[in-house]
Amino acid sequence: MLVSTSIIGRLQQAEQIAVFTGAGMSAESGIPTFRDRFEGLWAKYDPMTVATPAAFQANPQFVWDWHVQLADTVRKAVPNPGHRAVAQLQEAVKRVTVITQNVDNLHQAAGSKDVLELHGNLFRLKSFVDEDAIFLSELRPFICHVCDGYAVGSVDSYAGKEDLENIDLVAGPIPRCPGCESLLRPSVVWFGEMLDPSILERAISAVDQCDALICIGSSLEVEPAASMPFQALKRGALVIEVNPTPTELSDRADASLLGPAGEILPALLREVWSR
Ligand code: NAD
Repeated sequence: MLVSTSIIGRLQQAEQIAVFTGAGMSAESGIPTFRDRFEGLWAKYDPMTVATPAAFQANPQFVWDWHVQLADTVRKAVPNPGHRAVAQLQEAVKRVTVITQNVDNLHQAAGSKDVLELHGNLFRLKSFVDEDAIFLSELRPFICHVCDGYAVGSVDSYAGKEDLENIDLVAGPIPRCPGCESLLRPSVVWFGEMLDPSILERAISAVDQCDALICIGSSLEVEPAASMPFQALKRGALVIEVNPTPTELSDRADASLLGPAGEILPALLREVWSR
């Protein structure tokens, strides 16, 4: 048995479950995690040279090319049995909210409906805003109607949001916003950037309302996301962790299931909800 009968009972009674996921959720889909020592993305690249606004400013093409390479890996990936188990949970539980740090779309591809992307999405683009340059400029900044970013200078009033949506993260020169011509970048949260306040608010509310939280494949080192499972614990929600390697949460969670998400989650689903 993976979990005790009392935990099975609490999970069966849960009306709202928050599923909190990190890079380990997609490891079995072939997407490298950030911190896994020998295979992680950061083992090969210093994050400060590829995932910060300063890095983009210093060498935008290098940063764009790095994300193109990551996108090529992610495009080949398909949801693994863990993503599918998370989606199946929707059939057994009244409300399931997936709070993910991943930017790979795999929860949505598996069929999860309520997905909060804390760190954005690799396949959406937005304009790069160099606020210092914009506010030091003598021209008055305005909000571009296409990319919703700050811009100065002229704008193509015939361009629309659909023109931006048709631009992909692919190899080649960095594309520009069809409205204001700002350089485009992936809509992911880089180191040192703020999370989208509306997504963060919805995630906090899901954590504050859930009866149980399942934390899957996160090293819990990136704030503010990392605090969420601890916040659920503090409120008295049932907290279960799924990760092959123990984390700071493991000793405090109601259950720490050591193993890969693609094996543990389908087994947990069978054990709890197929009775
Ligand atoms: P992390 O790399 O810091 O930690 C990954 C965790 O997953 C580790 O604790 C590891 O033990 C665990 N893990 C490895 N294989 C697993 C498996 N098969 N099943 C379950 N767990 C497994 O990742 P993180 O905590 O998500 O944190 C940092 C950042 O990584 C986030 O900001 C996220 O945006 C970004 N990221 C996203 C992706 C993606 O979208 N797939 C990939 C890499 C990094």
